[in-house]
Amino acid sequence: QSEKAQENQSQRENTRDNRTHNPLAARQNKLLQVRQQLPIWPEATNIRNALLENHVLILAGETGSGKSTQVPQFLETSVWCTGRIAVTQPRRVAAVSLARRVADEMGTPLGKSPQSLVGYNVRFDDNVGKNNRIKFLTEGMLLQEMLRDPALTEYSCVVVDEVHERSVNVDLLLGFLRGLVTGTSEAVKKRKGKPLKVVVMSATADTEKLKDFFGEGFEQVPAKGSITTFGDEPTSSTKDETLVDKSQELSTSASGKISTCFVEGRMYPVQTEYLSEPTRDFSEAALLQIFQIHRKEPMPGDILVFLTGQDVVTDLQQAIEDMIPNVITRDSGLPKLVVLPLFAALPQAQQQAIFAPAPPNTRKVILATNIAETSITVPGVRFVVDSGKAKVKQFRVGLGLDSLLVKDISKSSAIQRQGRAGREAAGKCFRLYTKSNFEALEKDAIPEILRCDLSSAVLTMKARGIQDVMNFPLLTRPTREAMERALLHLLQLDTLKPEDGDISDLGRKIARLPLTPALGRTIIAAANPEMGCLLPVIDIVACFSVENIFLEVKDQDANDEAREARKALFRRQGDHLTLLTAVQAYASERTDRKAWAQKHLVSHRAMQSVMDVRKQLRAQCQQAKLLSPSDLANAEDDLDTISESTADNILKCFLRGFPSNVARPIPDGSYRTIEGHVAVAIHPSSVLYGRKLEAILYNEFVYTNRTYARGVSAVQMNWLEEIYAAPA
Ligand code: ADP
Repeated sequence: QSEKAQENQSQRENTRDNRTHNPLAARQNKLLQVRQQLPIWPEATNIRNALLENHVLILAGETGSGKSTQVPQFLETSVWCTGRIAVTQPRRVAAVSLARRVADEMGTPLGKSPQSLVGYNVRFDDNVGKNNRIKFLTEGMLLQEMLRDPALTEYSCVVVDEVHERSVNVDLLLGFLRGLVTGTSEAVKKRKGKPLKVVVMSATADTEKLKDFFGEGFEQVPAKGSITTFGDEPTSSTKDETLVDKSQELSTSASGKISTCFVEGRMYPVQTEYLSEPTRDFSEAALLQIFQIHRKEPMPGDILVFLTGQDVVTDLQQAIEDMIPNVITRDSGLPKLVVLPLFAALPQAQQQAIFAPAPPNTRKVILATNIAETSITVPGVRFVVDSGKAKVKQFRVGLGLDSLLVKDISKSSAIQRQGRAGREAAGKCFRLYTKSNFEALEKDAIPEILRCDLSSAVLTMKARGIQDVMNFPLLTRPTREAMERALLHLLQLDTLKPEDGDISDLGRKIARLPLTPALGRTIIAAANPEMGCLLPVIDIVACFSVENIFLEVKDQDANDEAREARKALFRRQGDHLTLLTAVQAYASERTDRKAWAQKHLVSHRAMQSVMDVRKQLRAQCQQAKLLSPSDLANAEDDLDTISESTADNILKCFLRGFPSNVARPIPDGSYRTIEGHVAVAIHPSSVLYGRKLEAILYNEFVYTNRTYARGVSAVQMNWLEEIYAAPA
């Protein structure tokens, strides 16, 4: 087998030689020089060797040291690596931009082309070719692949990147991978003896926990042997020969399975300044700070500003651009300023723009959410402005669901952010909070698994055949209440069987859709012939994947005609049907969609992404046999014929997926949720804003100064009873 491996490698090298005639080769050579300067470069041989001997490599390296781009390439040329390499990322943006960069460095096209060695697969965007050797994907997508192929037979190696972010998905993934590398998982048989290597990469040096986690997995092997295959754990008298042999074999090789490696990044001194008084408005403080830097700091270098979310980024961009003409006059002698936003929902081309060096006599200001903290390295930065805040997902027990909240970051995040200023030369970091605020920050962020709704995670475990989810090995164990709450929610959605808690057929279908269990349940309800509204429901669900399809209109730029045009899209039933009307109108516009969007105060960019998601969801529903090709063929001629009863059915389906997201008015005119009795108001962005209705169904909660329900429609209370009376 190793001969075969060597042959494979030399074949690969040959192809690479042929590629030197390729137009991409010159660029590849130029990039090679850059790569050779990265701190991780001298470790290439050590990294390859570590995995020759061990199953698991835990690699800690500072952000920018070259982990994400180089390690996959080191592995790709290792003799043992005959299959594919999966590299997981917590965020889509990082998966896509890394794939693009690595393809560029390897001198091959990206994605589906037969020459391509690098591809990516993120939710709603699959760009993987047959000959890809390295595949970047989000953690969620690898979990999806594991449902189809629990042993990951297509891969020789999985690189789990950015583990320090501790998303729920990464914790789950580590649990499954531990079973595969240690052999404690039954699925491992399907690998037919081919080992799976796992590289776990983190930007923080705190790797003890990971080492213990995998170590404990290996320790279980000699004690339990491969019992997972044989049902009940055998007692010593019934142990059969093969079983004993197997466990001995594993136990001898169980020593020295894990190797660890630390790569230091280059780090120049960073001078840090604090505010003397806390500020209430970090956007305002950031605005002042940016211009202060630009006016007062003689040294060149770009400015990276850490903010909370897309809305704050866009507002601040506007504010800076409005101020530029006043500050940078021709005779001020100051360089130009160019503002670049960076957030997860930004289209790829614009994300790539941050990597380009600033034009001469120009300073870049990058306004970022925390994706720039470790996921993406922006070259040229010498100044960091840190708001000290981030948007995090948090489960609200009272409300019974996750919502995004603006929270203080942890000390280790603050240090990461500060470090972004000192990658290329000495830099400065301006913290928009006081020194004592900093001292009071939590040491590390709380792992998502302790903060969030666990329904998706539990459904994934169930779909992967884990019956006892309470005892599944996880890096951090969630509370019992949180697990029970998730199980209950899943039962309510008919995804688990009430008699034994096993996954139901419906649950299995939902687990394979790239959606939350609630949205998955909505889709399944809509596919039921009695409801018959799958296509419109897909259109609405696609809209929920973007922040907002409607542009914000400020009073000063009142454009009566456009407002009227947009109003014509509004539906009295609420936001769900309004979104549907907008999507259908946009989709049926065949000549100039951009102009249509402008005319209706709709975001063309958001709509493009909605259309993309819609296409993918349709394809996925077709795969899941929820939708037939003829349904799709009819769909195109079937516009603007949403009857009253279809409209009701659509809302009933959403009610089926979100039975707890209902609120009723109380005498003072405000709404209270039916579960938990929490006060909510209809969000000003809703077409039902200010209306008093029998009951409302909402898609999510947002917090500003009060609790708002967003994505709101009017529903009837008797629908709820109707839904529960109907069979699943
Ligand atoms: P790490 O994973 O250790 O944070 P990376 O491998 O992501 O490091 O990045 C190494 C270097 O490659 C960085 O200095 C960055 O400037 C460069 N780089 C990464 N991605 C891109 C990209 N999409 N375009 C241009 N340069 C990139």
